[in-house]
Amino acid sequence: SMNNNHKLLLLTFVIYRLIVTVGLTLFPSELLSLGLKGKLSMEVESSSKDFGMLNQGEAVAVLHPAGSAEDVARLVRTAYESGFAVSARGHGHSINGQAMIKEKKLKGVVIEMGKGGDNNNIRVCEEEMYVDAWGGELWIEVLNATLEYGLAPMSWTDYLYLSVGGTLSNAGISGQTFNHGPQITNVHQLDVVTGKGELLRCSEEQNSELFHGVLGGLGQFGVITRVRIALEPAPHRVRWIRVLYSNFSTFTKDQEFLISLHEKPASQKFDYVEGSVIVDEGLINNWRSSFFSPSNPVKFISLNVDGGALYCLEITKNYNQENGDSIDEEIKVLLKKLDFIPTSVFTTDLPYVDFLDRVHKAELKLRSKGLWDVPHPWLNLFVPKSRIDDFDKGVFKGILGNKTSGPILIYPMNKSKWDQRSSVVTPEEEVFYLVSFLRSALDGETLEYLNNQNHQILRFCNDAKINVKQYLPHYTTQQQWMDHFGDKWTQFFHRKMQFDPHCILATGQQIFQFHP
Ligand code: FAD
Repeated sequence: SMNNNHKLLLLTFVIYRLIVTVGLTLFPSELLSLGLKGKLSMEVESSSKDFGMLNQGEAVAVLHPAGSAEDVARLVRTAYESGFAVSARGHGHSINGQAMIKEKKLKGVVIEMGKGGDNNNIRVCEEEMYVDAWGGELWIEVLNATLEYGLAPMSWTDYLYLSVGGTLSNAGISGQTFNHGPQITNVHQLDVVTGKGELLRCSEEQNSELFHGVLGGLGQFGVITRVRIALEPAPHRVRWIRVLYSNFSTFTKDQEFLISLHEKPASQKFDYVEGSVIVDEGLINNWRSSFFSPSNPVKFISLNVDGGALYCLEITKNYNQENGDSIDEEIKVLLKKLDFIPTSVFTTDLPYVDFLDRVHKAELKLRSKGLWDVPHPWLNLFVPKSRIDDFDKGVFKGILGNKTSGPILIYPMNKSKWDQRSSVVTPEEEVFYLVSFLRSALDGETLEYLNNQNHQILRFCNDAKINVKQYLPHYTTQQQWMDHFGDKWTQFFHRKMQFDPHCILATGQQIFQFHP
C-alpha cells in the first residue's frame, strides 16, 4: 500500500504540474519570455486576500520581482502592450481589495512587492540624513535599518507592518502628522514604473507631475519601486501619557490647542497627539490600549460620563538620556494648560522603537486568540473642525450605540502641513480630524450590522452636509470618485491619461475602467 500511496502522490504531482504548465501557456505567453530576475508564479492564493477579508482576488499570476525594478518595468510594459491589468501589492493591508485584481477577465497579474528581495534593499545615507528603500519594504524594516545609524524617519503610521509604497499611495498618518505632515510630505525622491512601463526617477525638481501625482495617488500612476525618505536623529525614549475627558468640546479644544503649537520649539510641544472615543466597555476591550488593563481598573463608573462617551487624549514626548532631566518639567508645563479629568493621568515610559511598534504587540495578542484574521469593515473619515461637534452628537452619541467592535481614533491635523500638489484629498478647512472606526466582525451578523452602521454614518454626514472626505477611500462608481476628488478630479484624470493611459494599474481601486 506504501507503493500505491507513492504512486498516488506522484500522479497528483504530475497532474498539478500539468495544470500549472498548461495554465502558464494559456496565460499571456509574452510573460514567459520576459527574462525576469524574479519569479512568476501561478500560486495566487495568498495574494488574493487582504486585511479587510471582504474581497477575494482573481489574479491569474503573481510576480515576485525580488527587488528588481527592471522586472516591474518589463511586466508593466508587456501589460501595456498586450492588454492585461497589473496591481502592486505591498503588504495587503487594505480593507476593500484595493491591491487586488477583482475580475478574471482583466487577466491580471499581482506584483508582490514585499517578498523575495535580497537584504540589500535599504540604504542609509548618514551625511545627508535620508534612507533609500525598495517600495515593498515594510516600515519596521526601514526603522530597524536607520536605527543602526541612530536615525529614523519623522512621520509615521500607528502600525509598522505596512509597505512604504502602500502607505505613500495613501498618505501615512499618525500622531506626528500635525508636526511633520503626513509621510508623503517627507519624501525626497521616488523611482516609479509608469503605466507605460517606463522606469522614471522623480522629485520636486524632476518629473514633478509624476512625483506629486504618485504621492497619495492610490497606485493609479505607477508602481513605486524606490523611495528616498528624510531622517532625523532618533530619540532614545518616549514618555507616553493618556488622560481622559468626559466633555467632548473640552477634549477637542485641548487637542486643537496642542496641534496649534506645531511651530514652537520641540521643548514647548508634544511630539505626538492622538485620541480615542470610548463608548462601550472599550477601556478593557480596546486592543490598542496597553495601559488600561483589568488589573488596573480605573474608577470609570465614578467618572461623570457625558451622554455615554468618554474621550481619551494620547500624547507623547521624545527624549534622550542627556536631556532626561528637563522633560518632567516640560510635560508639567504643557499638562497644566489642559482641562482633563485630574485623576485620570496614565503614564508609561519606553524605548522609542517600542513606542513606534506598539500596535504589533496588540496584533500578536489578537493573533494568539484567532482575532486578527477576521473581517474588518473599517471606516476612516476626515471631518472638518467646524462640524466635529455635530459629528460627535450624531455619530459617537447617536448612531454608534454602545457596541463599537473596536477602537475609534480621533485626532486633528492641519492642512498647511499637507502639500496641496499631491493627489490626496482632505477637507477644505485648515484644521480637520481623522476619525477611524477600526472594527472587527467576528461573525456574519456583526459584519452586516457594522456595514450598515458605516452606511448610516456616511448618510448622516451627507444629510447634515458635513463635508467629510474618506481616508483610504472606497468607492465603486466614477461619479462617486469625482465627488471625492472635487476640484482635484480634472488634475487626477489628466495625470491618469498621461501616466497610465490604458488604465491597467491598481484596478482594485475601481476609479477607472480597464477594458481588455
Ligand atoms: P496594499 O494594501 O498592499 O496596497 C494599497 C494600495 O496601494 C493598492 O491600491 C496597491 O495597488 C497600491 N500599492 C501598493 N504598493 C505599491 C507600490 N509600491 N507602488 C504603487 N502602488 C502601490 N494608515 C495610516 O495612514 N496610518 C495608520 O496609523 C494606519 N494604521 C493601520 C493599521 C493597520 C492594522 C492596518 C491594517 C492598516 C493601517 N493603515 C494606516 C492603513 C494603511 O496605511 C493602508 O492600508 C496601506 O495601503 C497599507 O499598506 P500596504 O502595503 O499593505 O498596501
